Amino acid sequence: MKKFIVGNWKMNLTQAAARELIHALHANGVRSTEQVAVVICPPFTVLQALREHTGELIALGAQNCHAAEKGAYTGEISAQMLTDVGCTYVIVGHSERRRDQHESDHQIGRKAHRALTSGLRPIICVGESLEERQQGITRTVITSQLNGIIDAASEEVVASSIIAYEPVWAIGTGLAASTDQAQEVHHDIRLHLESRGMPSPVPILYGGSVTSVHASMLFDCPDVDGALVGGASLNAVEFAAIVHAANEAWS
Ligand code: PEP
Repeated sequence: MKKFIVGNWKMNLTQAAARELIHALHANGVRSTEQVAVVICPPFTVLQALREHTGELIALGAQNCHAAEKGAYTGEISAQMLTDVGCTYVIVGHSERRRDQHESDHQIGRKAHRALTSGLRPIICVGESLEERQQGITRTVITSQLNGIIDAASEEVVASSIIAYEPVWAIGTGLAASTDQAQEVHHDIRLHLESRGMPSPVPILYGGSVTSVHASMLFDCPDVDGALVGGASLNAVEFAAIVHAANEAWS
C-alpha cells in the first residue's frame, strides 16, 4: 500500500513565504517516491501561487471544502474549485474545524463524498479528546465518528479515501501519542473499516505533534501508513527529515 506524508500548513504563510517554503522543500530533497507520496495542504490563498511548483513530486491539497457542488455559500470553497486550481487531495473533518465550525460527522462524510466525486482524494480526520481518552472511550468515539462519516459518504467513498487518526490532545501540544497508543487505535480503525466491508485496505495516517525525533518509531508500527504533520511541516529541514524517515521505513 502507498504511504503518505501530508503537511498541513494551517492558517500560515503569505504568497512570498509560501513560495520560499516550497523552494526550501525542493532544495531539501522533499519529493514523492514510489513508496511514499508527499502532499502539502497550504491555505486557499496560496494554492495558485504554488501550482507551478507542485505536481508529480509534491502533490497539492487543501484544508477543507464545502459539501455542496456550488451556490449561495458565502465564503466557502467548492471541491471543483480546488481541482481547478491543481489540488488532488483535501483534508476534511480536521479537529480544529470540528471545534470552531462545529462540523458533524455527517457533514464531514458529505464533504468526503463531494471531494471524491470531484476528483480529490479525501483525507478524513478522526480523533478523541483528552477527556474521552481519560474516560476510556477512545474506541467508541472513533468508531462512532467513522460510522457517521461512512453512512453519509458511502463505503465506496471511504474505501478510496485516506484516514488520519489525530488525537485532539496531541495536536499542536508537543505531546504526541506513544507508538503503542497510535498502533492500538490504528489497528481498531483497520478492523472497523474491514467490518464495514471496505474492499481494499485504506491508508491510516497518524497526526499530532509528529516530529523527526519519533517519526521512525512511528513508521515502524504495522498499522501506521504515514503522517499528517502540522507545525513541523512549516520547517523545511524538519519536514524533509520526516519524509526521509518514511522512505527509510518503507523502502
Ligand atoms: C494537524 O494540524 O493536523 C497536526 C497534526 O498538527 P501538529 O503536527 O502541529 O500537532
